[in-house]
Amino acid sequence: MVGSSMNDCLFCKIAGGTIPANIIYQDDHVVAFDDINPQAPHHKIIIPRKHIPTLNDVQAEDETLVGHMAHTASILARQLNIAEPGYRLVMNCNAGAGQTVFHIHFHLLGGRRMSWPPG
Ligand code: 5GP
Ligand code: ZN
Repeated sequence: MVGSSMNDCLFCKIAGGTIPANIIYQDDHVVAFDDINPQAPHHKIIIPRKHIPTLNDVQAEDETLVGHMAHTASILARQLNIAEPGYRLVMNCNAGAGQTVFHIHFHLLGGRRMSWPPG
């Protein structure tokens, strides 16, 4: 597990600029960057600036923010030319689903054929 609180959270540090990442998009609410261990030709991570540990912690007040994360992913997919062939948007929730960084994030994966069901 990497970072279970705001003060010790890898993605808060990337959003704050204290840990480097190849940031491809940012605004007042979200940051998107290359995954350090890509699982596809395109593998981007989209995070909110707000520290929310898991999808289970999302509150009603966060709905617009999570929607903005998803919309940002679709805009990035278009820019990466993966919108038409297709891409996958994934959020792992808790360790049993493979979550290792406890600050919510979408994985945007594309540039290769995706199989289903996932592992
Ligand atoms: P999770 O397993 O929590 O769904 O996804 C965490 C993702 O963060 C993984 O795909 C992992 O490769 C990525 N990651 C872990 N540490 C770093 C880092 O320091 N920099 C970047 N850019 N990505 C990271
Ligand atoms: Zn955080």
